[in-house]
Amino acid sequence: MKEFWSEDIAAIEPYVPGEQPKGGNWIKLNTNENPYPPSPEVYKAIEKAAARLRLYPDPTCADFRLALAERFGVKKEQVCVGNGSDDVLSLAFKAFFAGKKRVQFPDISYGFYPVFAEYYKVDHEMIPLNEDFTLPVEKFRGGGGVVFANPNAPTGLAISAAQVAEIARANPAAVVIADEAYVNFGGESAVPLTKEYKNLLVVGTLSKSYALAGLRAGYAVGDENLIAALEAAKYSVNPYSLDALALAGAAAAVRDREYFNMRCAMVIATRERTAAKLRELGFEVLPSKANFLFARFPGRSGKELFEGLRERGILVRYFEKPRTADFLRISVGTDEEMDALCAALAEML
Ligand code: PMP
Repeated sequence: MKEFWSEDIAAIEPYVPGEQPKGGNWIKLNTNENPYPPSPEVYKAIEKAAARLRLYPDPTCADFRLALAERFGVKKEQVCVGNGSDDVLSLAFKAFFAGKKRVQFPDISYGFYPVFAEYYKVDHEMIPLNEDFTLPVEKFRGGGGVVFANPNAPTGLAISAAQVAEIARANPAAVVIADEAYVNFGGESAVPLTKEYKNLLVVGTLSKSYALAGLRAGYAVGDENLIAALEAAKYSVNPYSLDALALAGAAAAVRDREYFNMRCAMVIATRERTAAKLRELGFEVLPSKANFLFARFPGRSGKELFEGLRERGILVRYFEKPRTADFLRISVGTDEEMDALCAALAEML
């Protein structure tokens, strides 16, 4: 089966994305997508850009980077963009971690970190989360780099910007990556800290809070030196990683602040309402700052609950690892979808 494969690829265990079912009437709460459409400005910008598809897109991604730079109060040279934040993280692993010793990340976190580490042959150490799933901030030091998600996935727990600063300070000779895929749902962004900490890179995405998972746009903000390394990596594999439609749509989404704020507030309100309902049903729910909830019911496995919900047309996720096997990760949908979820769970329990 693996004839002709390189040894590297034959040995790797690739990342498995969440299920994207075709057809059917699913209530889809399994991949942390936004339940609302993106800003109408996105469609207008894409339509305009569609008239120019004969040409290559702008490899410098100037306008999208400018939109992000204006949003964050930094220079365009302090922003790199990519085809989703997975692409940006991949560039960062190559640019900052390849060949380094003992790059650290939490044992329970985004499942792509160990895959990138294997792919780029990065010597790594998984730091166990504390008993209560919080991040042991004091344990991230002395290695060749650090990467963590804040808020973390799949727990939804966040650390403060002061704690991110502590990690950056404790690792002055290594790049520290804060993956802020979910930060806009109530977390505290470390972007302002990148001015002071030249080793801190903040990675973000338009997939969740901007409702653009299908468009594929992510970014990194950091010191110009770090961004130049990412650009060097990008121009070494795919200078046109963002197509012209994505670039136009992404810039328009970032500029529509009012729409963005309105949708984030809606998701947060639904999250809090759902967490309260799940607790009423007897669930233990971790305090989430993300657009998903991580919850368990005493005496029931995540798999059992997952399967019961699936039979009722509701897709969520569970993770069959020792410390997470009891939990469900439930993306925050609309109020109606979350009501259907709670009703299905009430019926099952
Ligand atoms: N980081 C974390 C923590 C995530 O959960 C995800 C989504 N799977 C990503 C990064 C990547 O998101 P995207 O590539 O869609 O920007």
